[in-house]
Amino acid sequence: MGTEHAIAALEQALSAHQAWAARLHRRLIAGMAPTDDDLSPDAHHRCTFGCWYDAEVADAQLGLAGQPAFAGIGSLHAQMHDHARELLSCPPSDARLAAYDRFAAASDQLVGEVRALQQGLLTRLLSMDPLTGLPGRRNMEERLALEWQQSQRDGRPAVVAMMDLDHFKRVNDRFGHASGDEVLRWIGAGAKRQLRIHDLVFRYGGEEFLAYLADSTLDAALGTLERIRRVIEASEIGLPGGERVRLTASFGLCACSAGQDIAAIIDRADQALYEAKRTGRNRVVCWRPDGFA
Ligand code: GH3
Ligand code: MG
Ligand code: MG
Repeated sequence: MGTEHAIAALEQALSAHQAWAARLHRRLIAGMAPTDDDLSPDAHHRCTFGCWYDAEVADAQLGLAGQPAFAGIGSLHAQMHDHARELLSCPPSDARLAAYDRFAAASDQLVGEVRALQQGLLTRLLSMDPLTGLPGRRNMEERLALEWQQSQRDGRPAVVAMMDLDHFKRVNDRFGHASGDEVLRWIGAGAKRQLRIHDLVFRYGGEEFLAYLADSTLDAALGTLERIRRVIEASEIGLPGGERVRLTASFGLCACSAGQDIAAIIDRADQALYEAKRTGRNRVVCWRPDGFA
């Protein structure tokens, strides 16, 4: 099974753990007796997270069982249940508060470790472009589809932006391919720096980049990309031979709309980019249902 499945399964397992923790908190607050499952020494094999974990250990369907991080998650999960049992067995007292703190810290650590494993899988899922260190186009659509699903679940808007350097061929022709490469590295690093940590930047093709702006409206994205356009326009990029070069870039933007697949959104951003080229370059153009703007 693919890495995407493993990432999705980890997400579900995490939701199951969080639902279990919420039930435990609810019973604690209402002063209700703990459940037999939670008091059992093998509580970590009885909860939904534990059952899912044990099934993967028994039959490595997701390819997770062999990973050291996965083994660590199993131990943390068992420890977390030990702390929960200790807490549930303790009468109201300062000692109980301390037991609660240990349980809460272990639960947070478990969530953090699962998230770190997911992140590692995502990185593997993306094949990095060696020149810019950015993820390349391979698996880009899968990654963006996952990201867009997440944005929709959270009810957050998102924007896809495409950037293409203007007359980049001239840089190669005038200064050589190695200088062109240096410009691409500079652009890639700059784009990453100018965007927010949770935005995604890909090297889409030769001198084309694609960004996914999470939690951003079209107007906010327009402001961000306009700023990047101006930074590029105003910069002198140092080349390996000591020369300096100036260049500009064109941008096409499209807001992600509910229910639409990511390939169609990318296609619209690409149409907007084409429009930016057609109407003179060094501009940001947005795809809108009633035309380009
Ligand atoms: P336009 O404004 O219409 O986009 O013009 P352009 O010259 O940027 O576009 P064109 O598609 O004609 O040329 C793109 C150039 O990008 C040609 C190609 O050699 C160069 N290129 C693509 N990938 C790389 C790379 O990895 N390194 C270098 N140095 N150049 C590259
Ligand atoms: Mg191009
Ligand atoms: Mg170009």
